[in-house]
Amino acid sequence: MSNVNISFKPTGDPFVDAGGNALKYLMEMFSEKSISDLIELATEIYVTDWGKNVYNVFHTNAVKKLGTESLRMVFDSYIKEIELSDSQGSDKMVFTKKRNCEICGQLTILYPSSREFFPLTGSGALVNYYTSHKEGSLICGNCSIKLFFLPLIVIQTGEMLALLHTENQKSQEYWIKKTIAENISKISKKISVGIIKSEFGNPKNALFKFASDIITEVNDDTLSDYLQLYHFTNFGAAPNCDIYRLPNPIFLFLNKVIRYCHSDWYVFIQKHYHIKKSSWDYTDDQWISGKDNQPMSEEDYLNNPNDVFGRLLNGDSILGFLRKFYKDAYIHNKRHSQVTMAIYYIKEVLGMRQEQINLIKKVANVVFDLAQKENNYKKYLVMLEGAGKAYQLRSVLLRIIKENYKSGAAEPVIRLQDYVDYLFPDGQFWGEVRDLMLIYLYERLHDENINRQDVVDSLDIVETTEETNEGA
Ligand SMILES: [Zn+2]
Repeated sequence: MSNVNISFKPTGDPFVDAGGNALKYLMEMFSEKSISDLIELATEIYVTDWGKNVYNVFHTNAVKKLGTESLRMVFDSYIKEIELSDSQGSDKMVFTKKRNCEICGQLTILYPSSREFFPLTGSGALVNYYTSHKEGSLICGNCSIKLFFLPLIVIQTGEMLALLHTENQKSQEYWIKKTIAENISKISKKISVGIIKSEFGNPKNALFKFASDIITEVNDDTLSDYLQLYHFTNFGAAPNCDIYRLPNPIFLFLNKVIRYCHSDWYVFIQKHYHIKKSSWDYTDDQWISGKDNQPMSEEDYLNNPNDVFGRLLNGDSILGFLRKFYKDAYIHNKRHSQVTMAIYYIKEVLGMRQEQINLIKKVANVVFDLAQKENNYKKYLVMLEGAGKAYQLRSVLLRIIKENYKSGAAEPVIRLQDYVDYLFPDGQFWGEVRDLMLIYLYERLHDENINRQDVVDSLDIVETTEETNEGA
């Protein structure tokens, strides 16, 4: 094996780090090969197996250079420079030409790197990309070599490429298995024809699929991650990059629902795809196409926008969707695993305190008991569902407090201190309090199998639509 000492310390640059992961995988797999051999191997794949179709990663000018003697010489000079740095030690570098690499910070000889091999940076011809009119990013040979392996670790997703960036070792292993390991396996079987292609064109849906796969494969309660999906292309005149971030609280929430209430979560997600001219079949939990009245399979709408994914990525609440889900579960008498998804969501994502959750549940139980006594569920559901503004919800609660007192209950529904401290604490959106209260109510109605006909009519009428996010 080569004695060239490539540094794999993460730099924070998604492209350099990903290329580094690909190179590291190859070094471990082909331990007898030198760096120079591995560059040759990658070149062979790009040129022969893939017919040079790497235009989304490398610029046209770079693709033309693949396999040429001049490019070989460039890489040779990088390798020599790394060997030289190794033998001298960084503290002996006193030459004025040595500077800190813009990506990894190493003090060494730098090379101007353009969009040719470094996606989305400036190009030699477009000097105005940089404020100082320089030729490109000044990076070291080490980083330049890593970038060369980037095509092996990305996935074609629609017109652009997907690159998953994560600091978590297990998630990185998942991505490596899905990309470079898959590539090498296919190449050895002579069935690799280009960059790996995803069944997804929609990057948001793809990101949730990646997260879901990681969670299922790792299957660990302590798994924590923050995923970033770079959806990019370095193609010709239309380079572009969109970044999708799946924050840690959302990941923790997914880790719970995917592992502990998978079938509920699956149905919940399916129901929130946008599908034109179709209807949801509550009996078999599937979409029925309006065209031929036949059940649709997931592949038919895999790339359609999904409201749950959209809201989660935007940082918007999905509690309203969950309320609708549990209401439907009650009305259509679906088997369900309690309201677990909602509990995970309010704990992991909304950060609701246990005291507040307990209090909301207590109020919901009082409401249920009152309704049972009066044998009038409609009345209370209409009141709560119809509260579309904060002041309306407050007045509903006052009515409930009054009804409870009139009914001769020994305990008040809520004490003033609890109301102030826990029911509507600062920063909590009032609508979430109402939604959770309703979710608990549907759960009680469902558990106690209250005659659906008694409440269905009223529920159809008061379907609240747009809600304003005013203070509580
Ligand atoms: Zn560097």
